[in-house]
Amino acid sequence: MTDLTRRCFVSAGTATLALGLPQAAQAAPVIALPKDLGGHEPSTIMAVRTPSPVVSMTFDDGPHPRLTPILLDMLKARGLRATFYVIGNRVVQWPDIVRRIAAEGHEIGNHSWSHPDLSGYSDAAVLSQIDRTTDAIYQVTGRPPVTFRPPYGSFTRRQRDMLHVQRKLPTILWSVDPQDWRRPGAQAVASRILAGSRAGAIILSHDIQSGTVQAMPQTFDGLRARGLRFVSVSQILGWPLWQSRRFKRVALSG
Ligand SMILES: [Zn+2]
Repeated sequence: MTDLTRRCFVSAGTATLALGLPQAAQAAPVIALPKDLGGHEPSTIMAVRTPSPVVSMTFDDGPHPRLTPILLDMLKARGLRATFYVIGNRVVQWPDIVRRIAAEGHEIGNHSWSHPDLSGYSDAAVLSQIDRTTDAIYQVTGRPPVTFRPPYGSFTRRQRDMLHVQRKLPTILWSVDPQDWRRPGAQAVASRILAGSRAGAIILSHDIQSGTVQAMPQTFDGLRARGLRFVSVSQILGWPLWQSRRFKRVALSG
């Protein structure tokens, strides 16, 4: 993680570089992302510098058959938008929940197919994990994810640059980590998130942890009481809403 310690900020803006096809041909068809993705944005983002009082809540490792719907109810009751970094093999297991996430206005991001530590993987194996997941999300929601979060945050600088060049997917890390996977209890999760969050924050949490989901009403209400608004990862990057974008499948040829 030493090379991840440098905090990367991006400003809102629209990149204009044309979509380039990967130089190394991949066997599987991929989904062409809009032209304004990638390009000028850095390959790694932990938070953004913004004058707007906005934060992005992100939930990793789902969908979970029991907890994710509970969380969706909490978000819906407050009219909040979040981003879910889902695992591909769970998408195919619980497609209805993934459909519901998208239908209720949340964004879905790519969190790999089987949640391995990718840092020792070959580029081909990394792209396989990511393409398979992109395809599963596309099959279920009609949209591919436009950002990637590596399992454990474990992804080398070179891999992040490779993914950005090959698939136009920036790697989204975080600026607030409540360490909720250690199950510190709902109160600790809420307190840590509230203590660490400021405008432009990207907040990490996991919707497969019951303590995390229990912590969310207090967390949401506490952040809102401080005047912070909830936006998706695309929105905090200054991109259009994920739900409003059009995508097409393309076959890459060598
Ligand atoms: Zn994870």
